[in-house]
Amino acid sequence: MTLPVTIAIAAAYGLLFGSFLTVVVDRVPRGASIVRPGSACGACGLRLGARDLVPVFSWVAQRGRCRRCCSDIGVEPLVLEVTTAGLFALFAWHFRSTWELVAFCALGAGLVALTAIDLRTKRLPREITYATAAVGAPLLVVAALVRHEPQRIWTMACGAGIALAITLAIYVVSRGGMGDGDVRLAPLLGMYLGWLNPGLVPVGLLFGFFAGALVGGLLLVAGRAGRTTAIPLGPFLALGTVAAVFCGQAAVDALLRR
Ligand SMILES: [Zn+2]
Repeated sequence: MTLPVTIAIAAAYGLLFGSFLTVVVDRVPRGASIVRPGSACGACGLRLGARDLVPVFSWVAQRGRCRRCCSDIGVEPLVLEVTTAGLFALFAWHFRSTWELVAFCALGAGLVALTAIDLRTKRLPREITYATAAVGAPLLVVAALVRHEPQRIWTMACGAGIALAITLAIYVVSRGGMGDGDVRLAPLLGMYLGWLNPGLVPVGLLFGFFAGALVGGLLLVAGRAGRTTAIPLGPFLALGTVAAVFCGQAAVDALLRR
């Protein structure tokens, strides 16, 4: 299969998963089932059928409104679908082996859901963190074995341990400056980065902390946040991890060459 075809297929799966994540993001925080009942309009209860659930196209065709009561659906479903598709496409471009691609897409889907929920509720539901780890870990093991690089199973365990140790230390020292959801998320991120290279684990966390501090500082300067406003860290840790997947190695190499 040629690369553009692989990227297009990954993006299509991303749209479908992104559409499913809309349901996850809406229901998991309030403890509702993600399977039943089927999707319905939040305002009028209209049961959504196949024509309402085509990613992107349904939203554009109905201009982000319910087709019966015309209430505003909001832009979030569209953002989730496009973000997931973009992430899957980037991973397809970066990872040429199928098992690696599938493993990292599982991470991507989990991080999109966690980011959306953290921005909305300032919580990182442990169900999603654990589900992503439960799906991702066996996929990473298979990907390592397929490459005949079983040592990656060891480095992914080390990565999870390193990430947990770093965030746990910050959690204790900062006395609640970091949420326990962030501490639970860290080993998942460390597992993936450790699979690539354990040296990327601190790099990914640093990227995340810097991005969080930068945005927090900008909000403070702009007067949009007080000194005590809690800024969710989860989205920045997710962003830092994705950045480390693509350019963490280059950052490590550049530092070591000095
Ligand atoms: Zn409606």
